[in-house]
Amino acid sequence: MQVITKVAELRRALADVRKADKRIGFVPTMGYLHEGHLSLISASRGHCDVTVVSIFVNPTQFGPSEDLSRYPRDFARDEALCRSAGVSIVFAPSAEEIYPAQFETFIEPGELAKPLCGGFRPGHFRGVATVVCKLFSMVQPDAAYFGQKDFQQCAVIRRMTVDLDIPIEIVTVPTVREPDGLAMSSRNRYLSPEERGRSLAISRGLFAAAKKFASGEREASMLIALARKHLEKVDRLQYLELVDAETLRSAESPLRSPAVICVAAYVGSTRLIDNVVLTISRTR
Ligand code: AMP
Repeated sequence: MQVITKVAELRRALADVRKADKRIGFVPTMGYLHEGHLSLISASRGHCDVTVVSIFVNPTQFGPSEDLSRYPRDFARDEALCRSAGVSIVFAPSAEEIYPAQFETFIEPGELAKPLCGGFRPGHFRGVATVVCKLFSMVQPDAAYFGQKDFQQCAVIRRMTVDLDIPIEIVTVPTVREPDGLAMSSRNRYLSPEERGRSLAISRGLFAAAKKFASGEREASMLIALARKHLEKVDRLQYLELVDAETLRSAESPLRSPAVICVAAYVGSTRLIDNVVLTISRTR
């Protein structure tokens, strides 16, 4: 496994791979890896000859009052995990390598970036889309792997690749959870044991709604009310919404096409997000 910090070196390493006509899979991350990241790596390894993982805590996707400086980092551990997961290249650039002094060009996502997290984290998806676009251009993978846990992020990235004619297959990988249901996240380490217990309200609320949906309930308000009951245990519910899985706009009730229930909630000072997709075949 190569560990590369410079774009020029990354391009050189990948030029050889490309010459050998090998399929390149790419997994962008902010590090502090967990089983969720490892499942993206495993999906990439299943479909590609070479897997590149980037580890970069992207400053442009954090707001001024967010957790950029305290975001958990442990490069030695990440490197060991990537090595044992069969990663070919770890790309771990500095912030200056990605954003040199004169940097001033950004990707501006559209409507998909406005609801849900977009309403509470202004500029977040602009930062995400910009860094992912830059990383795509550096790695030029055949396929890139993203977690369903960040459902809106997947939607924004997919849209970007279509709109900007980026020839990369975007693969969404199901959310990996702790045995008790909590979605894995690097931010879970902020939780005290007491908060960790209460954070289960999020997945429990989503699962309760999904179960009700599976039993035939199609009224959005009923599903949301059920999830909201569990979510009383969090300290601050930022949003709980049932949206159309394609447009991310409020789902029409009764549900007639694929939808997703999305949550962002604070437990203590930790902001957690999660979602559950309600699969339904489209009817007219
Ligand atoms: P992050 O390091 O949190 O920016 O996440 C990097 C990638 O891992 C993103 O595509 C996330 O959606 C994905 N990811 C994070 N948590 C999970 C999870 N629990 N299950 C699956 N993928 C995840």
